[in-house]
Amino acid sequence: MADVHKPVTRSYNMSRIKGKDTKPEMLVRKFLFSEGFRYRLHDKKLPGKPDLVFPKYKTVVFIHGCFWHGHEGCKYFVVPKTRTEWWIDKINKNKQRDLVNIDLLFKEGWKVIIVWECELKPEKRERTLQSLVRKLTK
Ligand SMILES: [Zn+2]
Repeated sequence: MADVHKPVTRSYNMSRIKGKDTKPEMLVRKFLFSEGFRYRLHDKKLPGKPDLVFPKYKTVVFIHGCFWHGHEGCKYFVVPKTRTEWWIDKINKNKQRDLVNIDLLFKEGWKVIIVWECELKPEKRERTLQSLVRKLTK
């Protein structure tokens, strides 16, 4: 598949994808808030700046984009056909960083929950959100 975007357009798209208030994250936030959960956002004091922090449950939640975080075996994780090596290297570094951060959080006594973007697609969303609530309150 050819990359039809001009570089400028592409970097605009990427910045949107990488932005903090991405749609999957907002979806989780809105749902949990409506369920009565209260949380901190992007806590810089914690490894990896978790998307949601629940001090009451000593739990953090990351909402991971399948592409940026290299979701293994996921249909949304497709390495671009151009600059393939560069992308693989970049995504591997992201994955490595994720592992290090999760390990640090474990060591600090946090429970870590990862929600993948693909688990929030309409057909899976309800189940994912319910299971998130169970994991949080367990
Ligand atoms: Zn995925």
